[in-house]
Amino acid sequence: MPRWPLRASCLAASICLLAAPSARPWAAPGGSDGVSATRIRADVEFLADDLLEGREAGTRGYDLAALYVAAALKGAGYAPGADDGTYFQQVPLIESTPVTATLTVTANGATSAVPLPDEGLVGASAIAAAVQVDAPVVFAGFGVTAPEFGHDDYAALDVRGKVVALLYNAPASMPSEPRAYYASTDHKLRNAADHGAIAVVTLLGPDDIRRFPWAQAKARFGRPSLAWAADDGTPGAVETRLSAVAFLSPAWSARLFAAAPITYEQALEAGKAGRAGGAPLNASVAITTTTRHARTSSPNVVGVLEGSDPALAATSLVLTAHLDHTGTLPPGDGDRIHNGAYDNATGTAIVLEVARALAARPVAPRRTVVVVLVTAEEKGLLGSDYFARHPVKAAGRMVANVNLDMPVFLAASSDLVAFGSQNSSLDAVVRKAAGDLGYTLSPDPMPEENIFVRSDQYSLVKQGVPAVYLMPGFTATDAGVNGQQVFGGFLSTHYHRPSDDLSLPMDLAAVERFARANLAVARAIADDPVEPAWKPGNFFGTMFGARR
Ligand SMILES: [Zn+2]
Repeated sequence: MPRWPLRASCLAASICLLAAPSARPWAAPGGSDGVSATRIRADVEFLADDLLEGREAGTRGYDLAALYVAAALKGAGYAPGADDGTYFQQVPLIESTPVTATLTVTANGATSAVPLPDEGLVGASAIAAAVQVDAPVVFAGFGVTAPEFGHDDYAALDVRGKVVALLYNAPASMPSEPRAYYASTDHKLRNAADHGAIAVVTLLGPDDIRRFPWAQAKARFGRPSLAWAADDGTPGAVETRLSAVAFLSPAWSARLFAAAPITYEQALEAGKAGRAGGAPLNASVAITTTTRHARTSSPNVVGVLEGSDPALAATSLVLTAHLDHTGTLPPGDGDRIHNGAYDNATGTAIVLEVARALAARPVAPRRTVVVVLVTAEEKGLLGSDYFARHPVKAAGRMVANVNLDMPVFLAASSDLVAFGSQNSSLDAVVRKAAGDLGYTLSPDPMPEENIFVRSDQYSLVKQGVPAVYLMPGFTATDAGVNGQQVFGGFLSTHYHRPSDDLSLPMDLAAVERFARANLAVARAIADDPVEPAWKPGNFFGTMFGARR
């Protein structure tokens, strides 16, 4: 899972209270479906080994992981899925390394430079080696245009040729998934450009900073960013009409309003109340950046199991998990390797095991099954976005996606969360599979995390493909364990840190049961002649369904 404003309020110590998994039988029994936690654990141990150096997209460690999963798919009977006859769909990447940046604010006749990166952050340009912007600033609320919710921040504003200053996130009154869509960079940058703005400055409020520590944002902005490259070499899925994107701390956000008709506090209040709109701030912003660009590539690993039903084989179920993680920290003291044992060696290993089980039956599933272990998820869902927009020929028509990202098994869960299932007929499939395995289904326990748009299933959803992403829920089978605290402890202590490694406990019986649930969902979709469909009037179906 890529970084996001994370709520880290739970007790980290809860994890330490959990017993190591040694009390569990190492080789779990393995049912008639052949799912084996032993094999899953063995794959995790390879993928999360220090030798793979954190599997960062574009590195040797990632390429070794890719070779390993390709070999596993071949061994399980999957044919090479890339159009060039290999297992590797190369994703061409443009790397943008920030070299210099300045950001100044002019109000009441006085110009002051924002101290970077302590009070402001400026993104590297994916398209230009040097950028200069100097224009008046218009506050445009959240920068959201959502006709179905009667909310348009731009309705009464003229932002042509201007810099827009936007609040973070989207109105809290929206249901969680549409809110996640409208809060996404995708929507906000495109919407700003559609209205003629030339740059976007996001104002991080005090609440945002609590959820998304400035230090994290600073570290990320100092590093190179990646975009996939289109055939003509230009960055794909990047809003090229905008010259610059920047962030301001709460203190400097307030200074931007020094000569404005409203105060920054009033702007924050309007946001909290969900009131649309904004105002010119009687201030201007100047931004300069220089950026160094380089080209690289990293493969999605693709294996295909052809459907056994001649009428259905031209349609496919796509199973995904991201194979990449965040690499290594710069040289220094202590453990420097981000092994990503849970994020996402475990998700990858479970997808491999589901793939093996699907291929092990005497007759293959009726639909074609395409397994894609994607690259560069941690760089912003790049590998899956590239795949979704450039599907391999062998995928035919993609009818559904089942994704896995960072399933955590520090404790066993008696419930499942099925992100996205309620948008489509996959709801019924997931309910049946969960029930058959004795799980209850729980609603999204962290709607504020916008998880549905934060992992690779969303790339497929954006191309109209119904998707689901299963996660073990927060109800522990052991009544003495608070599952939410355990997960919160993982987020605050181990997520995207060197300690997400093989020393963490892993409940193998829970892993096996969860893998069976994923297998049951995959089987049901792959064998059902009725194609998954968006529910009538569903937000994502209406927005993207026609693209399929
Ligand atoms: Zn992650």
